[in-house]
Amino acid sequence: MTGRHPVKGNLLAVQAQVDERAQEAGHEVHLVAVSKTKPDEDLLAAYGAGQRDFGENRVQELVGKAGRLPQDIRWHMIGHIQTNKIKDFLPCVHLVHGVDRVKVLDVMEREAAKLDRTVDLLLQVHIATESTKFGFSPEELHDLAQPEVWEAYPHLRPVGLMGMATFTDDQVQVRGEFKSLRTFFQDLQNPMAAVASARGAGWHTLSMGMSGDWPLAVEEGSTMVRVGSAIFGVRNTPKP
Ligand SMILES: *Cc1c(COP(=O)(O)O)cnc(C)c1O
Repeated sequence: MTGRHPVKGNLLAVQAQVDERAQEAGHEVHLVAVSKTKPDEDLLAAYGAGQRDFGENRVQELVGKAGRLPQDIRWHMIGHIQTNKIKDFLPCVHLVHGVDRVKVLDVMEREAAKLDRTVDLLLQVHIATESTKFGFSPEELHDLAQPEVWEAYPHLRPVGLMGMATFTDDQVQVRGEFKSLRTFFQDLQNPMAAVASARGAGWHTLSMGMSGDWPLAVEEGSTMVRVGSAIFGVRNTPKP
């Protein structure tokens, strides 16, 4: 095991910190362990420490790991979604984070109907200044907050929002971006809670915060943090 990050200890430490920050913030926060590019044994180390929610951003990798690893793992698709790959990950996914365009909704509905299952999803919102990041604009989000829109998607359950802050050391900027996402989340509470509850779910998840900025995100209302390198160590491949 030389050279391998001590995953179990890291996981337990991060989980304890998340619990502490959640208590301070006064709301529940779920930890998704982002295991992209990491080998099965690292995921099993985290699993052994009690972790059940894992995030992956490549379809082939997610599907492969889901086939090999324990069946009670909840898989989160956190990557940018290619519509031709939706049918591949849909059978094993617990929550789809990066829904960033209407075309994805259209294809997910069709594939979910074929599988006769209901799929939980988060709408990704573009909060960063970087144009390379994905997500709906505030105007598009407003259009999606009409309950009639969702009549076309009976197999989909919108349960919240996801966003990524700008990659910067400027904490004021990052906090401001998280604040704006939280504001969208609250503004959409009324219409979207109606849509979600008609399908047996709630408008309950605000997925924001990664290894470098999750404590800020929790202070600003995040209910789900996606933490990779702080648990599994640095990745050899660049960030997508
Ligand atoms: C890789 C990734 C993460 C985790 O990043 P870390 O900085 O390693 O914690 C979180 N969210 C998304 C969407 C990612 O692609």
